[in-house]
Amino acid sequence: MIATINPATGETVQTFDPATAEEIESAIALAAARAKTYRTTTFAQRAEWMRAVADLLEAEADDVAAMMTLEMGKTLSAAKGEALKCAKGFRFYAEHAEAMLADEATDPAAVDASAAYARYQPLGVVLAVMPWNFPLWQAVRFAAPALMAGNVGLLKHASNVPQSALYLADLIRRGGFPDGCFQTLLIPSGAVESVLRDPRVAAATLTGSEPAGRSVAAIAGDEVKHTVLELGGSDPFVVMPSADIDAAVKTAVTARVQNNGQSCIAAKRFIVHTDVYDEFATKFVDAMAALTVGNPTDPSTDIGPLATEQGRVDVEELVADATANGAQILCGGTRLDGPGWYYPATVVSEITPSAKMYTEEVFGPVAGLYRAADIDEAIEIANATSFGLGSNAWTTDDAEIDRFIADLEAGGVFVNGMTVSYPELPFGGVRRSGTGRELSAHGIREFCNIKTVWIG
Ligand code: NAP
Repeated sequence: MIATINPATGETVQTFDPATAEEIESAIALAAARAKTYRTTTFAQRAEWMRAVADLLEAEADDVAAMMTLEMGKTLSAAKGEALKCAKGFRFYAEHAEAMLADEATDPAAVDASAAYARYQPLGVVLAVMPWNFPLWQAVRFAAPALMAGNVGLLKHASNVPQSALYLADLIRRGGFPDGCFQTLLIPSGAVESVLRDPRVAAATLTGSEPAGRSVAAIAGDEVKHTVLELGGSDPFVVMPSADIDAAVKTAVTARVQNNGQSCIAAKRFIVHTDVYDEFATKFVDAMAALTVGNPTDPSTDIGPLATEQGRVDVEELVADATANGAQILCGGTRLDGPGWYYPATVVSEITPSAKMYTEEVFGPVAGLYRAADIDEAIEIANATSFGLGSNAWTTDDAEIDRFIADLEAGGVFVNGMTVSYPELPFGGVRRSGTGRELSAHGIREFCNIKTVWIG
């Protein structure tokens, strides 16, 4: 079902008819026709539209925030922050895309040419399959660079955020982008395959779970189409004895419960050196237990509901499995009574390798606490999952910093801070967390034909 269901109450607010086969066909046809003309527009023209989009979004940020909170339960302040971050993302690519995609010359003499360079050209129509957790940001971090590069987008958003999906396409159109540059297709996941196989669709990007990524990548592989995959994560947050423990605890709480605990780059496993384990554990549990869980529209709320009923069941099952395998619950661990899909900030310790939580992602405000005897064991635990998205290390020892940068198997390492996505920095994972990169110059080049030009 494609619907807005308020996670704070469980009430179905509005349902939407999925696009018919004819509507899907006309959307693809429009996108393909538009791609042919849009690729000839100048960077200056695209940047002007992009800045107009950012202006509109900033002006509408309060309403957009309320819509996202209604659809997936993040707190209003987090939702407004997301809307403003998207505006910044549009402005960033408006300013930098042209330089990022400038011709890259090589020494012509070395290749027996009078001139030789790489030119970045758009691929055409790109399908974006996106998740609900950051309804706007996930889609914008694809859309802004893709549009600046001269591509056009077809968005298949998660079925529980249809209003956000429709809003984004409308916003981009109102900013001045020609019709068909960016369209939302209200389709269920089962309809993705035929769109992806359509010869007019050149490539795909998917942000979401590992099974969804595997399915889309398999189809794209069969069609020999490029994909970018941003999948799950179970990021480690390692704390060493030299760290500022109070600062680490404060950031650890934010890193775990941001977005009601539903962020791919949330720190999920807290791996603490034995010398500071007890101090960190006591302070961390106290801070987690003090968080307010409740209505996401209330400014005093720290953690709103989980986005879906099934999402809460999944979290409960992982916690129950952990305790059945010997884990201890230090705070939280029981759903809140009443309507809405609320789950408290929870800390679990003594997680054994036989528990699913040891290796799987918990998509809710549940922190796993691990004790490490030394840096070798900390890195071993950190790398013990099949994911490799972000990672965090807290230490003031330069040799340890070097070691974490070298040996944490992840797409990013944030030292004495938490993993955050910035337009200025590449974002992505290794191993089962995905392939390719978003953001920065790396992201905008993903959906480009890097054309080799050689002139004799
Ligand atoms: P999900 O179930 O995989 O859904 C993501 C998107 O994929 C939705 O649009 C969904 O559509 C679609 N989809 C699901 N199965 C599909 C299939 N077999 N074929 C084609 N499309 C399919 O993920 P989620 O539960 O919404 O999001 C949570 C996951 O996303 C977590 O694992 C999280 O870590 C990950 N995530 C990763 C990043 C990152 O940047 N690495 C960012 C955010 C989230 P329907 O809604 O219609 O099913």
